[in-house]
Amino acid sequence: MDKLKENIINIKNRIARAAQKAGRSADEITLVAVTKTVAPDIINQAIELGIRNIGENKVQELLSKYDVIERKGDVHWHLIGHLQTNKVKYIVDKVDLIHSVDSIRLAEEINKRAQKINRVVDILIQVNVSQESSKFGIEVSQCDEIIRHISALPYIRIKGLMTIAPFTQDPEEVRPYFRMLRNLSIDIKQKKYDNVSMEYLSMGMTGDFEVAIEEGANLVRIGTAIFGERNYN
Ligand SMILES: *Cc1c(COP(=O)(O)O)cnc(C)c1O
Repeated sequence: MDKLKENIINIKNRIARAAQKAGRSADEITLVAVTKTVAPDIINQAIELGIRNIGENKVQELLSKYDVIERKGDVHWHLIGHLQTNKVKYIVDKVDLIHSVDSIRLAEEINKRAQKINRVVDILIQVNVSQESSKFGIEVSQCDEIIRHISALPYIRIKGLMTIAPFTQDPEEVRPYFRMLRNLSIDIKQKKYDNVSMEYLSMGMTGDFEVAIEEGANLVRIGTAIFGERNYN
C-alpha cells in the first residue's frame, strides 16, 4: 500500500484507540495534518485520501501553497506557528483558525484586518504551560486578563486554547501540561466571557498526541507521522 495512505490510516486508528481508551468518541477529534516543508502535490494526495484540515506554521509558506491546493471549499487552513503582526493582512482572509495568538497587540491587528474585510476570525490563545523560554505563548497567570481584553474585540472569536509541549522521549512526562491546559480552559469557560467559547483544545503532535487525547485534546496537529521526517534543506 502507498506509504502516505498507510500513515493516514494508521494515525486515524491510533486517534480512535486513544479516544476509546479515554471514553471519548473519535468523531470529536479533528486531525490537522501539519504540512510544513511538504510539497503541494503531496498535500494534494493527502487531501485525495481524505485529509480536510491542514496546518502551516509560516505565513510565507502558507501563501505559496494556498492557490495550488485542491478542493479549496472543503479544506480548512490552520495557522499554527508564530504570527507576526505585520503578516496578519496576508492571511486574514484565508485561514479558518489561527492557533497561535499570544498577545493583545496581535489580536488587535487581527481584529482590525478582519473588520476591513467584514469577517469574524476564529482564534485560539497559545499558552506556554511548560514555561519553556524557547516557546511562544502567554503565561498561564496572564491568561484570564488577556482573554478578557480580547473578548471585547468584535471581529474575533476565541474558540479555545493551544499549547506545544516540551519535546520528550516519554510522552507521559508532558501529561501534566496537557492537563493544565484543559483545567485552564474549564476555568475560562466558567467565566462566560462574550465571544469566548472553549470549544477547542489544540494539543498533541506526533510524539505525544495519544496522551493529549486522553487529556481532552480535540485538535491534534500531526506532521511527521503522516508525511515522514522533515527535510529543511
Ligand atoms: C511542526 C508542528 C507540529 C507537528 O509536529 P510533528 O512532530 O511533525 O507531528 C505541530 N504543531 C506545531 C505548532 C508545529 O510547528
